[in-house]
Amino acid sequence: MTAVRRLTEDMINRIAAGEVVERPASVVKELVENAIDAGAKRVEIVTAGGGASLIRVTDDGGGMTHDDLGLAIDRHCTSKLTDDLLDIRTLGFRGEALASIGSVARLSIASRHASEPHGWEIVVEGGLVHPPRPAGLNAGTRVEVSDLFFSTPARLKFLKGERAESSAITDIVKRLAMAHPEVRFSLAGSDRGAIDYPVAHGDEPFVERLGQILSQDFVDNSLAIEATREGVRLSGYAGLPTYNRANGLQQFLFVNGRPVRDKLLMGALRAGYADVMSRDRHPVAALRIDLEPHGVDVNVHPAKSDVRFRDPGLVRGLIVGALRNAIHQAGHRSATTGGGATIAAFRTGAPPSAAAWRPSAPMPAFGNAAAPSWRDWANAPAPAPHFSEAAQPAFAAVSQPSADARANAVAANDPTDRPLGAARAQVHENYIIAQTDHGIVIVDQHAAHERLVYERLKTALARSGVARQILLIPDIIDLPEDDVARLLKRADELAELGLAIESFGPGAVAVRETPALLGELDTRSLLVDLADDLAEWDDTTRLREKLDHVAATMACHGSVRSGRRLRPEEMDALLREMEATPGSGQCNHGRPTYVELKLADIERLFGRR
Ligand code: ADP
Ligand code: MG
Repeated sequence: MTAVRRLTEDMINRIAAGEVVERPASVVKELVENAIDAGAKRVEIVTAGGGASLIRVTDDGGGMTHDDLGLAIDRHCTSKLTDDLLDIRTLGFRGEALASIGSVARLSIASRHASEPHGWEIVVEGGLVHPPRPAGLNAGTRVEVSDLFFSTPARLKFLKGERAESSAITDIVKRLAMAHPEVRFSLAGSDRGAIDYPVAHGDEPFVERLGQILSQDFVDNSLAIEATREGVRLSGYAGLPTYNRANGLQQFLFVNGRPVRDKLLMGALRAGYADVMSRDRHPVAALRIDLEPHGVDVNVHPAKSDVRFRDPGLVRGLIVGALRNAIHQAGHRSATTGGGATIAAFRTGAPPSAAAWRPSAPMPAFGNAAAPSWRDWANAPAPAPHFSEAAQPAFAAVSQPSADARANAVAANDPTDRPLGAARAQVHENYIIAQTDHGIVIVDQHAAHERLVYERLKTALARSGVARQILLIPDIIDLPEDDVARLLKRADELAELGLAIESFGPGAVAVRETPALLGELDTRSLLVDLADDLAEWDDTTRLREKLDHVAATMACHGSVRSGRRLRPEEMDALLREMEATPGSGQCNHGRPTYVELKLADIERLFGRR
């Protein structure tokens, strides 16, 4: 074993840099945070080579004096921290970003403070500091970082492609710009399309900024959120449940003006939508939490994107409650309670009073009045049971099997002994009611169909045998440029999977062919979801490796919607196909495709057990 020795300053900085500077986007984050902390009203960012070859951030903030500049690039030198680590009012406070960056790249900082006649420039190369030289510039600071990771080649190898790094930078800038609508941001470079977010001058700068960054579409499809509890304020906008995405990249969360990716907050956001969104869909939201600095610890990780709240339960409750409230008030609640929960709700309900329990009209006259069972009802001989007036409307919606059908039902081949039974009726144009030997089955026709399409598609894709249908007129879909680029890059792979797209000028693609199995489909939302999927996957991930996922995304947009009336044979065919298809018991969103009520359950509902 070698003796214990003290690490050199340069080594210490490089170790710290491992945590602070993970990729080019982290450099951009640190530099832009410094500009905001310096009181800048305008921040200009330029990148090249996905930020690996160049990052330049120019601001019009307070700048640094000659002496400050010399100190700023030293580790643990900061102008921001007082003695109280829990009283943090700036984005930076650890005093290690510039030192870290200087140890793994070529860093040059030119800055001018109002108290000095001219500016100064300092250069650091892989930890080696050159003394400050006079420099001509207006008030403010210009930081240039080039050849990132030239001194730590191992890190360089971990960088993703230029496009991925450049879009990670865009993401960071969007988040910081969203948190600071009072500052103008521009981002440009040879590796990207330019963006510019001018200062919002209206009454609601945050909403204006959201419109600039997320599109007016989001603003129009979202709910204003505003709630305060015990000094913690939640404000912002949350998308309607129907305005959802395939991943969480469109979730923007801020704590005291700091963009965070905090598990607690993301979990609370999810929980707020739990009742109204399937597990594989993600809400779009931009939410700000503001509280007294002592209520939150941001010194959890060098990247400062995790936080610890002093009272996590309070914050979670505030978010979940406010979201549920807003969604409920918007009237967009969709009931997706599982069958088990329904039964449980019935079971746990207070025993009904005798008066409420007894129907006002005479009890229906069943064939066997003494002990009617489901079987008795279904096979009841004519005359048909006599229902009270009050009960009529509920049954009117049922397409009653004709007398003939009922006669057939008793025939020897009546499939009530099959797991999903014999179809008896379709109600509300989406639910198939089937009779089994031991109860009834209710099938969600839309969900079931979607699952079957998914399974067929998956099989076809695996065999490369996807039949395509050529669209008579190509669908032209407008999409953000990032999305267009992502999709076109994968055009060959998508074509293999039955989806033929091609470029249609900037910001649009033309869809020429779609998988025939999907029937008529909403190509726009399919492409949006596929682009979301691609954004999440590594550039090197082959779509074939994600076949299940792609098939699920496609099936979701191509299935027969509820609302189609099915003939009895069609219903039975659907039930038989479900029985023959593994995994057909739940739809692609994890909801059940059917629920079964055992006779015993039904009897319990009626207080017979
Ligand atoms: P921290 O932001 O945690 O203090 P940094 O290493 O990022 O640490 O910066 C060190 C110091 O350099 C800051 O505290 C600040 O005083 C100064 N500084 C850095 N960037 C700027 C800038 N753009 N304008 C003015 N001062 C800056
Ligand atoms: Mg900083």
